[in-house]
This record gives sequence, structure tokens and C-alpha cells, in this order.
Amino acid sequence: LEFGSALGTSATSFPRAHDKIAEPRDTLYFVDNEFRHSATKDFIDVHDPATNELVSRVPKMTTSELDDALVSAQKAFPPWRAMSAIARQQIMFRFVALIREHWDRLAAVITLEQGKTLADSKGDVLRGLQVAEAACAGPEYMKGEVLEVAKDMETRTYREPLGVVGVICPFNFPAMIPLWCIPIATITGNTVVLKPSERAPGAAMILMELAAKAGFPKGVINVVHGAHDTVNHLLDTPVIKAISFVGSNAAGEYIYERGSANGKRVQANLGAKNHAVVLPDADKDSTLEAISAAAFGAAGQRCMALSAVIFVGETKSWISDLVKQAKSLRVDGGFEDKADLGPVVTPQSKTRIQDLITSAESEGSDILLDGRNFKHPKYPRGNWVAPTIISNVTPSMRCYKEEIFGPVLVCLHVDTLDSAIELINANPYGNGTAIFTSSGISAERFRKNIEAGQVGVNVPIPVPLPMFSFTGNKKSVAGGGANTFYGRPGVNFYTQLKTVTSKWAGRDDVSKMTLSMPTD
Ligand code: NAD
Repeated sequence: LEFGSALGTSATSFPRAHDKIAEPRDTLYFVDNEFRHSATKDFIDVHDPATNELVSRVPKMTTSELDDALVSAQKAFPPWRAMSAIARQQIMFRFVALIREHWDRLAAVITLEQGKTLADSKGDVLRGLQVAEAACAGPEYMKGEVLEVAKDMETRTYREPLGVVGVICPFNFPAMIPLWCIPIATITGNTVVLKPSERAPGAAMILMELAAKAGFPKGVINVVHGAHDTVNHLLDTPVIKAISFVGSNAAGEYIYERGSANGKRVQANLGAKNHAVVLPDADKDSTLEAISAAAFGAAGQRCMALSAVIFVGETKSWISDLVKQAKSLRVDGGFEDKADLGPVVTPQSKTRIQDLITSAESEGSDILLDGRNFKHPKYPRGNWVAPTIISNVTPSMRCYKEEIFGPVLVCLHVDTLDSAIELINANPYGNGTAIFTSSGISAERFRKNIEAGQVGVNVPIPVPLPMFSFTGNKKSVAGGGANTFYGRPGVNFYTQLKTVTSKWAGRDDVSKMTLSMPTD
């Protein structure tokens, strides 16, 4: 289980910085606690977004290799579910300790493959680690209920695992999203087949090394690779009982439909357009700082990034200070000490973002800060888009209607809080939103009337910690948001309730036979 080989590079040279990887090798897959080479001839290249140097190649695995992973997970399920809750918990404690110990390594591979700054990659790992920590209390959530429902009769509930669950991950949180799922699925007795994003598989591979070291028996967690065909295989196999998906609407709506049509439970967190509302009674400096950080951090590639801001009334004049602040942010390679934001993930992503900025220009908005032509002297081949601020945006413009997923903030202007609420509620997405105000009355009015799943009051990115659940709304979730990730709802998603009604009475106490339904 040598980590360098798991990542397809030598352990000593990987990953330190945006160095040229001497000999990029193929990313392995993980089945039966072994890292294996795929026999495929079809690979997807993974590049460092700061340099576009090849880091690794991700195999589009063959059908028989995918089936090996499914069989492994299927075989591992009966003994894993039979293991005592305490024994599974001990493994989870060790997994948590190992993730903490290897935090820097995990962060480094995220920065190398995905581009975000090292500090932000550490946050990516931490947010996932916290879910793993909370999952150690899984047995507490598994407890059933019991009630004596009638004389000599009791009803009892058991929470049982589903079997093999499939997890399909996006590129933007390569550690956090696998860790939203693996700990809760496994502590509750399920086994897992996980597909990382083909654009950032490294963190999932290190997690597999740590999972094996922690003592997860072989087959309990498997990692497969590929793109659409791999996903379709997971959606169609009867071996998999539930699918956890996080990613775009284009993929997620399709995955929700196909998975559901095949009789699986599906939880799917999708895209977003998160609005901030700025009221004139907000503290100006801290509000603008919070908005800059939430709009441009991770180069805007967060599903909870604040990508639209509604300036209410006179706060419209605050935009010039926001522009000043955004201009001062340092766009740099993620391994550079002072970087505020790194490159976007791929050249295609850069082109898409630039096109959306251009569309805003041609549709009549004002580009107050233009990050399209940013050049980096040290990393001339990187996928750079610098912070961009677009003003006088209207809801009919493409830059408002589409998720940009880049360091681009669109600004709208209204006169009242009620108009801001109306505007946000008319937007089809409903992941998160934030209001900046010093008025409790305004904050409460906003909280009650806003149609978004996660609301911040003077908090720009209100992602709930793992004792709660990630509660997106509207088009930001598939299936109406019934199946949310982590927390108690996460445990509910990965388990099935069984209700048992028992009667234990002596012969003398048995009542006379009746064919009608009991009425007392
Ligand atoms: P993506 O949808 O392109 O990819 C996600 C996964 O789906 C990948 O593993 C990919 O291989 C697979 N996939 C993509 N298209 C597919 C298709 N047509 N058929 C089958 N599988 C397919 O998403 P991404 O670009 O990696 O991630 C960014 C998106 O994820 C953004 O829209 C962002 O808002 C969203 N996201 C949402 C949350 C949330 O909790 N709401 C969190 C993180 C990211």
C-alpha cells in the first residue's frame, strides 16, 4: 500500500509543488484492499490546472473490472453488517486519526490536481474529516424504538443497512464529498463502491490507503474510475441499492432518474446560484470582505459560493469598494504561500467562464472588474481567470441564469428587502443564501420568507456542520431534497427501518381466535 503507486507517481516526488511530474503513471483502482492497474487502453488525462502538466491518467475501467468491485462489495457486506457496532466504531476511530495524520498529503494532492490553494485544500479535508468524526457516533443513531403496544405485545424498530451503495463524486471537493458518504455508509453497516471525479481522483486514493490501514476489511470500500459508462454501470447493476451523487444538474438529474427507475434510493446534490442580500444597515467593511471571500475563494468553484449579490437601496454605491478589494486578491499557484485563489480546473472550464463574461457584456451589463485576460508570469500555461465583477445584471441575462462556477460575481440592484426576497425566490436554484444586516427584524423576515435550503445571517457560506445536514432546496437537489447528506438524515438514507411486532403470552392468556381486525 505504497501511496505513490496508488497515485500513479513515485512517493518521493509527489506531491510537493507545481513541479513537473517526472514520470506520470496511471491512477490505480482499489478493490479487495488492493491497488490494481486497469487493463483498459482508454484513459482520461489529469493535469495540474496551474501548469497543465500531466499529473496522472485515470482509467476508463473495463466492465469486468467494475464487476470485480461490485462482487467485492457484495461479498464483504454480510460479515461487515454482522460485525458489532463497537468493532466498526473502533475502525472509524482509527480512520479519523489517520486522516488527521495525513491531512497535509491529502491537501497537497487536491491542490495539485484541482488547483485550489493549499489552505483551502486543508479546509476541504477538514470538512470531510468532521463528518467522519461525527460518524463515530453512528451506533447512537442506529438505535431503534420499542413500545408495549398492547397487552403482551410490543413493537420494535430496527435500523438495518441497505447493502452495497454507490457514490459518485464531483471535482470540486475531492476529499470532502467522499467523506460525506463513506463514513456514514460504512458505520451503518453498508459497503461502498465509490467513483471519484475523473478530474481529481488522488484524494480518494489516499483515503483508500488510510481506510485499509485503519482496518476496514477487504471489499468494504472500493474505488472505481471512469466517466459516463462507469456511472451507468453503477446505476444499472442490481447489486447497488442506493446512489449518492454530488455534481452538476446536467449529470445529477439524469442520474436521479435512471437510478430511481432502477429501483434505487438516490440522493443527489446539484448546482447552485447563491445570492447575498446587502442591506444599508449592514457593517460595510465586514460585509464586503465576507462577500469577496465567498465569491472568489476556491476560484468560485464551490456549490455554496456566493455568485450573485443584491445591493439594496443606497448600498449600490458600495460596489466600488468591493471592486477595490477584489483587485487586491492574489491569483496564484495553489502551492504559493500568499495565493488567495488558484486557477480554474480545466482549460474548458476557463473558456466556458470567459464566454459567460462576454455574454454579460453583450447583453448590456457593466464589467467593473474583468479577469478574462489575466496572465501569470510564473505559470503562463495555467487556467487563469481573475476575480470578475459584473454590475447592472438582470435576471434574464445568461450570466445570471447559468451557474458560472468561476471567480465571477454578478451584481443586481433593488430598492427593498421584499424585492430582493422576490428575486431570489424566482430563481430556480435554492442551495444557499445570506443576508447582511444589523437588524434582527429584517433577518427574521428574510429567514421566514426565503426559499433556499441554507440561510446565513451575516455568515456568507452557511454550510451546516455534521451534527446537522446539508439541506439544499429547489433545483439544487433532485427529488425535492428528501434525502439530504450527513447528519441524522444521512443515517436514515443509508438504512432501512424494520418494524417487528411480537406477542409473548402464556397459553392461558391467549385470547380467542377472531377473524376481524382488532379494535382494542
Ligand atoms: P459533474 O456533474 O460534471 O460530475 C460529477 C460526477 O458525475 C463525476 O464523477 C462525473 O464523472 C459524473 N458525470 C458527469 N456527467 C455525467 C453524465 N452525463 N452521465 C453520467 N455521469 C456523469 O460535476 P463537476 O463539474 O465535477 O462538479 C461541479 C458541480 O457540482 C457544480 O454544478 C456544483 O454546484 C456541484 N456541486 C454541488 C454540491 C452540493 O452539495 N450541492 C457540492 C459540490 C459540487
